[in-house]
Amino acid sequence: MPSAYQSSLLKKSIQRLAQADIELHISKKRVKNINFRLKPHKLMVSVPLFISSAQAAQAVMKRVSWAIANHPQVLEQYKRQQLPLAQALTADSTLLLWGKEQPFTLNHDEKLAYYRQHLSEAIPALFAKWQPIVGATANEIRLKKMHTRWGSCNTRARRIWLSVYLPAYPIACTEYVIVHELCHLHHANHSAEFWQTVANAMPDYQHWHDMLAGKTGKLD
Ligand SMILES: [Zn+2]
Repeated sequence: MPSAYQSSLLKKSIQRLAQADIELHISKKRVKNINFRLKPHKLMVSVPLFISSAQAAQAVMKRVSWAIANHPQVLEQYKRQQLPLAQALTADSTLLLWGKEQPFTLNHDEKLAYYRQHLSEAIPALFAKWQPIVGATANEIRLKKMHTRWGSCNTRARRIWLSVYLPAYPIACTEYVIVHELCHLHHANHSAEFWQTVANAMPDYQHWHDMLAGKTGKLD
């Protein structure tokens, strides 16, 4: 089969998965069989070294429907594991705004409203700052109570979602998430080129990335 046909086959799988908000990650490994692992927003595929790209594309195509059908369940499971962290973040004890402890407390719902308001207020200036640096513009920015992610980007609609929990952390963390999602408008993946674009725009991004890593959400 011509390789152009095969790569279009793989492209079709990538597109179908992307519509379900799942990113395809294929890696060649010293394994005996093709292994599929479905994670939140990710389909990880390990391919034996001796398998051709054409065979791999065929195998992936056969698993696309399975991945799309099972993804909500995987997300639900992940969300349940992450929920205690999200609740801890919005628990009554301390109120953090942009990483600083506030002299008053709020209940869970009030906290979310408080974070949402502060994030909404900060967003116009942050996008005005970073869009020219990254060289990409979002059509729409929305806030969401996200449990599994700090941000996400619909590259086709150029729509960026940000987690309402972000104002608990230093504002540079929110700036990093904005840079990360804007960079997806150049690269709709997490390739080396993507990370280079992030580093070019924000040389100290790793620090803010690490601060958010392992917390309530993760970044996609
Ligand atoms: Zn990402």
